[in-house]
This record gives sequence, structure tokens and C-alpha cells, in this order.
Amino acid sequence: MSTLTSVLAADPFSIAKATTNIDALVVGSGTAGVTTAIELAQNGHSVVILEAGPFVLPSHVGSTPFRSRGDITPQIHNLVRYRTAWSDREHYQDGVASPLNNDAWSAVGGRTLFWGGCTPRFSEWDFADWPFSYDDFEPYYQTAERLMHVSGRSAKRPPFFRGEAQDTLLRRCEKAGIGAEHAYLGIDTQEPRNGYVPRGFDCAIDRLLRSGLLAREVTRGRIVVVPDTIAERVDHNGREVTGLIAKETHADRRFRIVARQYVLAGGAIQSTRLALASGLKDLHPHVGTHIADHLFIQGLFKLKEPLNEPIYAFIPPTESRPFHMQIQGPFNETWYSPYHATVWLDCDPQGLYLLAYCFGVGDAAEHNEVMLTDGQSDGPDSLGKYVVLNDRTANDLRILDEMQAFLPDVADAIEGDLVRSQINPPGAALHEIGGLRMSEEPGVGVTDTFGRFWTLPNLSVADSAVWPSQGSANSYLTITAWSLRHAEGVLARLAD
Ligand SMILES: Cc1cc2nc3c(=O)[nH]c(=O)nc-3n(C[C@H](O)[C@H](O)[C@H](O)COP(=O)(O)OP(=O)(O)OC[C@H]3O[C@@H](n4cnc5c(N)ncnc54)[C@H](O)[C@@H]3O)c2cc1C
Repeated sequence: MSTLTSVLAADPFSIAKATTNIDALVVGSGTAGVTTAIELAQNGHSVVILEAGPFVLPSHVGSTPFRSRGDITPQIHNLVRYRTAWSDREHYQDGVASPLNNDAWSAVGGRTLFWGGCTPRFSEWDFADWPFSYDDFEPYYQTAERLMHVSGRSAKRPPFFRGEAQDTLLRRCEKAGIGAEHAYLGIDTQEPRNGYVPRGFDCAIDRLLRSGLLAREVTRGRIVVVPDTIAERVDHNGREVTGLIAKETHADRRFRIVARQYVLAGGAIQSTRLALASGLKDLHPHVGTHIADHLFIQGLFKLKEPLNEPIYAFIPPTESRPFHMQIQGPFNETWYSPYHATVWLDCDPQGLYLLAYCFGVGDAAEHNEVMLTDGQSDGPDSLGKYVVLNDRTANDLRILDEMQAFLPDVADAIEGDLVRSQINPPGAALHEIGGLRMSEEPGVGVTDTFGRFWTLPNLSVADSAVWPSQGSANSYLTITAWSLRHAEGVLARLAD
């Protein structure tokens, strides 16, 4: 039976046989991969994106009618969700599979099909250990916000929630000396006008479909998506990558694909896993190291009186408080689940409960690493066989204590009580970084300041694997902005 996939996508066999040269081969179809691909194709280059997962949705789940269906949405997640193992060293045993304790998603569009919508920028001080400054990076933020239709940043796209209840909540926080602001959201609030209707949540595949650049054959200035195909390994001769071995996710057929430039965009953990599986640790000892994820505490506030209208507030970090808080609701009693991260679209104004997510900066310690093991995840085929080793540092534990102490202060400020809270384990924030760290000096880190491997100039990284640290902001906006900067580097090399 033919499905829409046969109209929108290609198979690896036809790509491996293509007679037109592939300028860039991109691994992963989330925002990192798609943003890069669009930049390259718009400049006339032929691009192929390999995606391990299937083509299940053409837009974000929150932009579909499934959004409010608590019975259907988790089932869609389950079509493309797999489990990963994060462990501390104390509980890790060589040769014994570690428990599968975190979720990951594999689909055309990646996690951008399901993300929760919050799009703050990093703060200036978050760039202190990056090889460039906030000011250098700011133009990429501006472009990313335009591409993602971020609301709340400009008058053209006002905050999504801007009613009396939101103002009341912000005023209460202000009175208690806790600066709070409208949440920046990757959801389009621009007024409809002739020929333009706001399109809901930003989503990588939605952006690609609308770009008009999608093709089913390798063509200059076009992008081909190849779903259900895993990049297993890149081959190199010590000076450059010479080809990529891809395997059909559900069959045992392998293909060698050759391109001028190769881009890793599988998300920090998966890009790092592919680098390790390709033996690149032999080229630099930091391949795999310096992994971090946000320190993540979730909480539930019970208000004394309902707010009567939906709110979404953001308490930004400060230099001395390296964490932020998102507050959403009101709801009937509920609890955060990643299967319904857009729950704030369906909040109940009569409800008394607000959800709070607090994200703090985790240490990107050298000893936190992705390791290949004999253990299995339940991911599509060979996406398994690795573990993320993550020990919380003394600094992490101190910040978690501060975050926990902050929750009741906020509850007081908004005239409510903290009725429940939970410290989530490493990996649960879904904001992971590191593994292929960048540096300004050749060879100090794995990649340069445009994400290119110092030792393999035709291989680069479009996702957060290169970040030296994570900032307190959620990662999607900064990944999109980073992939724009990364694409500039690829464009310069393709022009050589
Ligand atoms: C429920 C949920 C809520 C979230 N909420 C927010 C939020 O509010 N704000 C925010 O900023 N962020 C949020 N995030 C995180 C955000 O979605 C991610 O940081 C971002 O989408 C990552 O983009 P990416 O392109 O780096 O990776 P991904 O979106 O993970 O895409 C990578 C893709 O590459 C594919 N891939 C990996 N390895 C291979 C391989 N070897 N071969 C072929 N394909 C491969 C994967 O299958 C995957 O589809 C949320 C995430 C989830 C799941």
C-alpha cells in the first residue's frame, strides 16, 4: 500500500545510486538537521537527510486535532518513542545492561513533533565559557525567532497569554521581588491577514514542507528526506570523511553514501554515539565526554482562588540564580508528563492548580560521558548499545537544593501552596548537551567554533553536542540559532 511517505520521502537504495552529487548528507531531521538543510538548499546545494525514525506527522502534535486527546497523543508518542539508559558510575556494571530510565524520540521531525513550546534565549553570562559572546550570537537568535515564529519577543507577535490573570500573576511575583515575565513561546500569534493564517507550533518537518524545497530525487537546491534509515558509521582516512554507511531501520540492507560534506544532527547523545561508533575517539579523547542535562525539578502549586484565565509565566535566571522556572495553568489537579507537554493549551480556567518546571544549569563535567556498551536500549534496531554515564557534581546538588527551596517562595508569591514536587533524574529534562565539545584553539576541543571537526574538515555538528555548557534556558531556540551559524561554516566549505 502506498502512503503519503511515498510522495514526501525517498528510500536509501535510490539515494546511494543517485548520479547527481550530494553536497551535504545530514543525519537527523529535527530542528538541527532541517534548519541546516534549508540554509544549504536555499543556497543552491543538494541535500539528503537520513532519519532513523518513520514519517508519522507533518506538523507538531499540538497543531493537530489530536492535541486534546489524552487517549491518542500518548499512542502517537509510543509509535516513535524508545528508551535510553542513563546511569551513575556507582550503579554501572560493565557487561550488564543498565535500566532503561529515560525517553527519546525517533521520527521525521525528531522531538520537534512533541516539544513543549518554551523558547527563551540564553543569558549573556551563559556564554562565558563559549568561544564567542552573546553579542556575536545574537543575530542568529533573531533569525531563529523569526523562523520559529516566537511569540512574546516582538510587538508583531505578542505573548500567547496576555490577559488579566497573567498580569495578576506577574504583579504578584513582582511584589514578592521575583521578576517574572510573559513566556516566550514557539507558537505563532501573528494576526491572520489576507493569505496568512498563523500556523501553531514550530516544527522542523512543518518548516521543511512549507519551504517548497522538498524533493524525492537528489537535485541541486533541493532536500531529500530518507526515513527509516540509520546512519551506522562514518568512514574516514584520517584527513576527511570518505563515506557513510546507512542501514534500513527494519531490514538488514546497508548502503554506502558519499557526499561532499557530512553533518551530524541526531541530537547531542545520538550524534556523539555515531561519532563513537565510527571510532572518532581515536582522533580526540574528548569525543563522548562533557555531557550534561538540565537539573530538572517539577512542582504543582495549588492556588487559594482560581485565576479564571490561562497563564504561562517565566521566571528568568539571574547570575546568582542559575535556574529558571516556567509556570503554566490553571488546571484541575494534574502532573507533568512529556506525552502531553502542550497541556497548557487545554488548561481549565476553573482549576486551582499550576504546573511548575524548574531547570538549572548542570555541570558539563568531563567524566560525564556517552559510552558504547553491550547493553541494549529498545530503540529502533542499532540505535541501542550505549549508556550515558552521569554523576551529579557537588555543584549540581547545591543548585538542586536552591531550586527546591525556591519553589515554596514562588508558591507564597502567587498566593498558593506547593503541594507536590519531584527531582527528576539526569536525562529527564531532554535538554542534553556535549559529547563533541567545541573550542577556539585547534585540537583543544573536538570541533571548531562552527561545529567542524578539527581533524575531519568535511564533518560537522549542527546540534548541541558541541556546546561547552548549557545555559539555563531550554535548548530548542539555541539549537536552531546554533545550526544557522553551523550552516554558514558548511556553506563556506562548499564554496571552496
Ligand atoms: C516532550 C518534550 C517537550 C520539550 N519541551 C521543550 C520546550 O518547551 N522548550 C525547548 O526548548 N525544548 C523542549 N524540548 C527539547 C527539544 O525538543 C529538543 O532540544 C530539540 O527538539 C532537539 O532538536 P535536535 O534537532 O537537536 O534533535 P532531535 O529533535 O532529537 O532530532 C534528532 C533526530 O535524529 C535522528 N537520528 C539520531 N541518530 C540518528 C542516526 N544515527 N541515523 C539517522 N537518524 C538519527 C533521531 O531519530 C531524531 O529524529 C522538549 C522535548 C520533548 C520530547
